[in-house]
Amino acid sequence: MSDCIFCKIANKEINSELIYENDNIVAFKDLNPRAKMHFLIIPKKHYDTILDIDDTKIMQDIFKAVKEIAKKYNIDEKGFRLINNCKEDGGQEVMHMHIHMLAGEKLKTTII
Ligand code: AMP
Ligand code: ZN
Repeated sequence: MSDCIFCKIANKEINSELIYENDNIVAFKDLNPRAKMHFLIIPKKHYDTILDIDDTKIMQDIFKAVKEIAKKYNIDEKGFRLINNCKEDGGQEVMHMHIHMLAGEKLKTTII
């Protein structure tokens, strides 16, 4: 997807603060952090939404990234929150599937 900002981040065509990378996944700091730590975990391959992921290896690698990032940033003890906004009602703004990982402080409860 040539006009997708997250594809450009994954292909390193535009700069971002990458915090993690493996063959299928990159993670980087959110530009507009909503917590002391706010990372976005994305597949390098473009999928519009979580519903479009048809490869279980990608889901495995996303959860592997969560564990490794939790260890790397010492948030495995105190914890974190994962969020996926899906489509319009979920409030998804960037149409390249991403998981928000929020941590570093006691997070406010929103809906759940
Ligand atoms: P969502 O509303 O779930 O689609 O979230 C999109 C997120 O992407 C927002 O939290 C934005 O702050 C973040 N974002 C947009 N552009 C960039 C960028 N170039 N680098 C890092 N984060 C970005
Ligand atoms: Zn994309």
